[in-house]
Amino acid sequence: MISADDALNKPLPAPDADSAAFWAGLREGRLLLQHCLACAHVQYYQQGICRQCGSERLEHRAASGRGRVHSYSVVHRAPGPAFRGDTPYAVLLVELEEGPRMISSLVDGDPGAVHFDMAVELVCERVNDEVTLPRFRAVAAAPGVSGSGG
Ligand SMILES: [Zn+2]
Repeated sequence: MISADDALNKPLPAPDADSAAFWAGLREGRLLLQHCLACAHVQYYQQGICRQCGSERLEHRAASGRGRVHSYSVVHRAPGPAFRGDTPYAVLLVELEEGPRMISSLVDGDPGAVHFDMAVELVCERVNDEVTLPRFRAVAAAPGVSGSGG
């Protein structure tokens, strides 16, 4: 049962042995994907084996952080008190440049401006010492913009 106090805190992922490297990567600002050395399959969800071929020869590599909005939903009604200050916000299904799709949410932007196939880039949002969440923001579409100022 959820107490009133708990309801005010957002649920956070709990890193376990399988995902420890993934969460450590995010703390360093890197989104790690598992690359299968046997069949070249790339997977986002951390597992002991390749979902494609069953090989255990998996290697972590940092994603480029670039992706596109494959699908999205704008949330207007908070799922709980902890999210009340956030609405409206956009939940994104992002297709990463490397192939895998992941559910995340938009930061630094107008949820109403999200559209299919919108270019997005990774933002590592630190929540606490343990957890840094992978989120995404829109990439400026204008050509010739030098966005990497630092
Ligand atoms: Zn494989």
